[in-house]
Amino acid sequence: PPAIRIDNLVKEYAPPGPGEPPKLALKGVSFDVPQGGIFGLLGPNGAGKSTLINILAGLVNKTGGSAEIWGFDIGENPRNAKRSIGIVPQEIVFDPFFTPFEVLENQAGFYGIPRSERRSEELLRAVHLWDKKDAYARTLSGGMKRRLLIAKAMVHSPPILVLDEPTAGVDVELRRQLWELVTELNGQGVTVVLTTHYLEEAEQLCDRIAIINHGELIADKPTRELVGMA
Ligand code: ADP
Ligand code: ADP
Repeated sequence: PPAIRIDNLVKEYAPPGPGEPPKLALKGVSFDVPQGGIFGLLGPNGAGKSTLINILAGLVNKTGGSAEIWGFDIGENPRNAKRSIGIVPQEIVFDPFFTPFEVLENQAGFYGIPRSERRSEELLRAVHLWDKKDAYARTLSGGMKRRLLIAKAMVHSPPILVLDEPTAGVDVELRRQLWELVTELNGQGVTVVLTTHYLEEAEQLCDRIAIINHGELIADKPTRELVGMA
């Protein structure tokens, strides 16, 4: 199966106030994310990107249509669907007094992964944080925190990693670091999906790009075809 299959996905949020119309954030979006690549979901603010990611993460209920992750329907088989992806949220949320090692061990605990099967060291090395394993999270730089979030999302070894605006508001140097890390993980076989509102980021990093605007899909193509059109 494709890594992710989105079919006619609809999300309607309740009206913001009495007498106001409901907000249609996704108006029947369909696309497949093939296995093995880096897939970019590109669109301006308010396009519906986070809504789509939150539906995949099981944090928001869809109104209509379907979404499958690794062949598991998120409505019919939410447990397996959720286990097949790691989500890197936009906001950084850690207990400031936990160390990177503890953050990963706690996450493994949430997933019921036995100690002998945990990969905290391997993951911290993969995101270049092994030398910071015992530092309090509050003392880490913004870039280190973002890398720790990526390691946290990989704790249960999901075949798919989804990053919501991984480089929004970061400087050029850190953006390059994060791109490198994403490319490394992809090289190890992880299918990557990321949302962005930077065309340049999608072009540099992604082999396929879907563009959404106002809750509608307006393109879904290999990057080289899309760039050829511009
Ligand atoms: P993006 O991530 O592309 O910026 P979002 O998915 O956050 O877009 O938002 C899509 C639309 O849905 C926007 O118009 C936004 O205001 C609306 N929206 C998002 N979350 C909610 C919510 N919880 N309740 C009501 N409307 C929402
Ligand atoms: P619950 O459904 O009871 O929240 P989970 O095992 O799904 O339990 O989640 C446990 C912890 O893992 C929470 O901190 C949650 O935010 C986080 N989490 C859940 N799913 C993912 C995921 N796919 N990627 C990263 N973190 C996740």
